[in-house]
Amino acid sequence: PLSDPFVNSVDTDWALEGNVVWIRSKVDAMRDRTPDRVPLQIGGEFIEGDDEATATDPSRPGHTAYRYGLAGHHQVGRALDASVAARKDWNSAGVESRADILAQVAVRLAEVRGDATAAMVLDAGKSVMEADVEVSEAIDFANYYARSLRDGGWLDGSGFEPLGTVVVTPPWNFPFAIPCGSVLAPLAAGNTVILKPAPETVLSAWVMVNALWDAGVPKDVLQFVPCPDNEIGRSLVSDDRVGAVVLTGAYETARMFLSWKPEMRLLAETSGKNALVITAAADPDLAVKDLVRSAFGHAGQKCSAASLAILEAEVYDNPGFLRQLKDAAESLRVGPSWSYPSMVTPVVREPGEALHRALTTLDPGESWLLEPRMIDGNPCLWSPGIKLGVTPDSWYRRTECFGPVLGLVRARDLDHAIRIQNDSDFGLTGGIHSLDPSEVERWKELVEVGNAYVNRPITGAIVQRQPFGGWKRSCFGPGAKAGGPNYVAQFATWHDAGELS
Ligand code: GLU
Repeated sequence: PLSDPFVNSVDTDWALEGNVVWIRSKVDAMRDRTPDRVPLQIGGEFIEGDDEATATDPSRPGHTAYRYGLAGHHQVGRALDASVAARKDWNSAGVESRADILAQVAVRLAEVRGDATAAMVLDAGKSVMEADVEVSEAIDFANYYARSLRDGGWLDGSGFEPLGTVVVTPPWNFPFAIPCGSVLAPLAAGNTVILKPAPETVLSAWVMVNALWDAGVPKDVLQFVPCPDNEIGRSLVSDDRVGAVVLTGAYETARMFLSWKPEMRLLAETSGKNALVITAAADPDLAVKDLVRSAFGHAGQKCSAASLAILEAEVYDNPGFLRQLKDAAESLRVGPSWSYPSMVTPVVREPGEALHRALTTLDPGESWLLEPRMIDGNPCLWSPGIKLGVTPDSWYRRTECFGPVLGLVRARDLDHAIRIQNDSDFGLTGGIHSLDPSEVERWKELVEVGNAYVNRPITGAIVQRQPFGGWKRSCFGPGAKAGGPNYVAQFATWHDAGELS
């Protein structure tokens, strides 16, 4: 049963001691469990893969968290066959029945909130708080897309046709909510789905798909097929039986998919290099709070994260503001993901070239307001870093680093700040902090981002209220936003014969 009107799911209240005790027991159970092997699910059968891989716990590098099966060529082929065979029944089940199942999914996701949170703490290195809000978002996707079916005119909209089999390749940074939403929308539109989870976070995705099967999504309609990112993965996404591919990941990955198959129907949300503008008319307390959260939540590993703050000269030149920002970032508790209440947790794997450079190197003119440090000898765990003197043409300004680093850029005035903000190939999120309505209006008119936020953090989009999606090179495909109107409709095509009168 869907509540009317739509309401967002409520996050866990960590002020209540009982909730903290509850999540600690869930996390401990998940962390200490004997590693076992997550299977594949093809055509309704749980099977071992042709190969296997291990996932690590970023809070304890070198420690194998669990093993999981990997599909070989033959198994990918079987999954595609099963997916084609399952289409007819799922599609003819009808809109009502699919909406009912999605509503049931929302109920089931709420029931597994603790296990889902614990799985993300383990394999994504997410803090308890960041993981918990992701469960809420997944529940919202289920409720919202169920409504898209009921309210979107689909019931009487004869002539729509699902695309067939949709392959979903989600990221590791939102290992529960993004695969969940990316799977539910095509399912809602009557497609069958093959989920290839991100290699780092197979367990989180596994908890999610189990909730969907428990709630009534047939197993052959939604299959779970981890496979290597080599020619086997390529054969899955570029197979001719696949009607569409959903990707959340790097811009380069989207380009690679298209180079494999230029005619692919690809719906992708890709990279960003997002900035928050802070003008002299901002409330500094609010701006600092929102900036710190946007930059360092999930250790900066969100496509939506603020990796730049563009400060109007008066703000940049104010030592009081900089001190306040430094204090706020320094006071965030850095620690393993399973140690509640860590705020800045490990990055998912040892920093690659770009992140390592961002954490350890300054370019000419740059200096540290707050120098990042490796913590507890864990190469994945870094305290927040803030760079001063980042210039519009610098390496750091141009490069998505995906970690707990923030660069501060000085702008002469608001228009200069907007020019710097827009001078990017990407356009995912962006924000402004200003209490002057005329500044806000001007910014809204000119800024080139998918999600433009005013006086709030630039991460943490909320289903229905702030549908999420990018602009410029941050988006491929029709671009309807996740958690917003038309998202489900992208997974169907209409073939009503029009008649001229
Ligand atoms: N929807 C997430 C947010 O608003 C970001 C998703 C992503 O990183 O891809 O923070």
